[in-house]
Amino acid sequence: MSHREQAAPRGREPACLLCRQSDADSDICGEKLFIHGFCAHENCLFFANNFPDRPVHRRGLWCLHSWEIRDVVSQAAEESCSICGQIGATIYCCRRHCDVSFHLPCARQGGCVTQFCRPFRAFCAAHRPQQAVEATPEPGTECLICMEPVEDRKTFNTMVCPACKNAWFHRDCIQGQALHAGYSSIQCPLCRNDDAFRKDLLTMGIRIPFRPPTWEDFNAFDELGDRHRRCDASECLFPGGRQEAEGQGPWELLLCSSCAAEGTLRHCSGLRDIITSWECDGCAGLGTVSSEDPELVALMKDSSDNSTDRETITCSTRNHHINTQATQSSLWNLPHRR
Ligand SMILES: [Zn+2]
Ligand SMILES: [Zn+2]
Ligand SMILES: [Zn+2]
Ligand SMILES: [Zn+2]
Ligand SMILES: [Zn+2]
Ligand SMILES: [Zn+2]
Ligand SMILES: [Zn+2]
Repeated sequence: MSHREQAAPRGREPACLLCRQSDADSDICGEKLFIHGFCAHENCLFFANNFPDRPVHRRGLWCLHSWEIRDVVSQAAEESCSICGQIGATIYCCRRHCDVSFHLPCARQGGCVTQFCRPFRAFCAAHRPQQAVEATPEPGTECLICMEPVEDRKTFNTMVCPACKNAWFHRDCIQGQALHAGYSSIQCPLCRNDDAFRKDLLTMGIRIPFRPPTWEDFNAFDELGDRHRRCDASECLFPGGRQEAEGQGPWELLLCSSCAAEGTLRHCSGLRDIITSWECDGCAGLGTVSSEDPELVALMKDSSDNSTDRETITCSTRNHHINTQATQSSLWNLPHRR
């Protein structure tokens, strides 16, 4: 069976079959996909509790059976959202015996947390995670981003940097910041911690897209100082060290075309001159899971043997922007560091 690229239906903007919205925030719901005749936001699919738990997207192609999409859509049709009351809820609180379900675009309003990284866990307002750090804002503390006062303690809407415990901000403000900065540049505005900061944001349900910061689009050359600038090959062969590179030839530094957060010198990854773009292991081996979660690794093993006869289909999305590839593939490779 061969699949052609499916064009988006003409006429009125089609609604996502899961959240039932046609104009939901694409920063949260992701691109609208048209696969096997179904229209759905990519993140509405990823969070659906019966969505296949294996890598389904590879180099611009979606590897999904039509029945897999159909299953998600038909189960969604039976479930109503605890926040807006409409049907099409595909997301369940992951706490055992909790049967609260909701739509992705309703989550924020209902105080629910959705973690935008594998294994895409979601929590209702009663079971959502709290920041582990012990901290209380001084009276009169302001959000570092909007300068408006924060609440008098950590809440769903008031968050703190886990590293310095001094930087306070509103959920919406740091979410806005994360969308601009992207995975490689998000950091505490005060102490500049990135690792612990990022981890806490992801746990608390902030979406951090895997794309270069938006300001690089405008000023690609001025921002060289902030760009990733080292060879991350497992064995770097350059005599000058990982931090050095030349403008061209075997020692030219290529950044990952998906995440821009990893680099390699051509020679260190055996890339000849004719190759102009490269993807890091994390992005190319989409679905590489961290071994921290044994449950997830087990699931991945279970489903790996039905990959032989998978149908492949080209995705076709609306609202295309330059980094489509990056945002889509990025979902599958949370921290890939060596
Ligand atoms: Zn949707
Ligand atoms: Zn809803
Ligand atoms: Zn719950
Ligand atoms: Zn704020
Ligand atoms: Zn900090
Ligand atoms: Zn190298
Ligand atoms: Zn990458």
